[in-house]
Amino acid sequence: MKILVLNSGSSSQKASLYDFTDPLPPSPTAALWDGQVEWQGDRVVLQTRNSTGAILNALTRGQARVLSSLSELDVVGHRIVNGGQELTQPTAITREVKTAIRSMSPLAPLHNRAELDGIEIIEKRMGDVLQVAVFDTGFHSGLPEAAAVYPGPYEWLRQGIRRYGFHGINHQYCAERAAQLLAKDPAALKLVTCHLGNGCSLAAIQGGRSVDTTMGFTPLEGLMMGTRSGSVDPGILTYLLRQGHTGQDLDEILNAKSGLLGISGLSADMRMVVSAMQEGNARAKLAFEVFIHRLRSGIAAMAATLSGMDALVFTAGIGENSAEVRAAACSNFAFLGLAIDPAKNLTSGSDRDIATTHSAIRVLVIHAQEDWAIARECWKLSLAAKAATQKHYNEP
Ligand code: ADP
Repeated sequence: MKILVLNSGSSSQKASLYDFTDPLPPSPTAALWDGQVEWQGDRVVLQTRNSTGAILNALTRGQARVLSSLSELDVVGHRIVNGGQELTQPTAITREVKTAIRSMSPLAPLHNRAELDGIEIIEKRMGDVLQVAVFDTGFHSGLPEAAAVYPGPYEWLRQGIRRYGFHGINHQYCAERAAQLLAKDPAALKLVTCHLGNGCSLAAIQGGRSVDTTMGFTPLEGLMMGTRSGSVDPGILTYLLRQGHTGQDLDEILNAKSGLLGISGLSADMRMVVSAMQEGNARAKLAFEVFIHRLRSGIAAMAATLSGMDALVFTAGIGENSAEVRAAACSNFAFLGLAIDPAKNLTSGSDRDIATTHSAIRVLVIHAQEDWAIARECWKLSLAAKAATQKHYNEP
């Protein structure tokens, strides 16, 4: 079954093509093809529109083509950043689902618009191919109320101002993969998963369910990130508004001029920050230290919600690749009996356990597999749709 996964970011569009055969292997298989289109500046919408078209053209044209025609695709899966409270489970895209995604647009304007464009371009080019939406908020939709509700006026809740949480597709995947690596029943595990990429978030996962997470109403809450501030005192925002800044200024400052880039003044990329720090750059050192301080506090908060932690999981660009970040984050948890093996921490490659044999808490490094996880949901829904059609035909 050929499955195309479209993953629209706020500044790039990624696509992967998978060819799944029955039965599905328990761990991820490599994509047949990966593509990425980036766009910048003011021409976001136009470029977004072009990019899905460009991805479709690349699949069927030129020397690197992987399909002789788009009709070979069985399913197209989309990562949808915010499905709100209504859209939580992977679902076949219908007119109603599109309307519901559109209604969430005010909460994730750049993302939802790019995602809807992608869906509509596929409809135009491929007619009624099965399209599936998988929601990045879905895994967190069962957060206990105490974790989901903001302590503002109760009215906020009625307006949909609550904590949604993001990166759910990968947090969920990591929880499953962790159980597999540890050879444990997911129902018996307490996990803290650290998704540290350009965007960073933590999840507290008990028995395979998300019970707390650091991102909230938007992906701006929580940890310090590449260019995003994470949580700051909301009083800073009202202060800056009184100083004459506009809402748009604040959006720009908090999303694009803060985090590692804002503090270091050098780069949003952890590799650059660490190497500048090692060369003695004081602001790079400060950026690293603030990042680690907030990461440690966040991990402790998640562990407190879980009242324990069987394993700490590192995933995504920084989590998978930065031995410095993992070592620094873990060093303050020796009091819980957590110990990483310095030699194992320096290894790279496949999913692995980097804790010492005596560590009271396992420490896992798991390669983020968002697109594969989306493709797997497409596969499940496609099989269910086929079974339903078969049943219909077989009925007397
Ligand atoms: P996204 O959140 O956009 O999917 P990734 O998960 O690919 O991003 O993470 C990208 C980030 O990972 C980069 O900005 C960089 O900070 C970090 N990164 C990638 N490789 C390394 C490395 N070897 N050491 C430290 N950080 C790294």
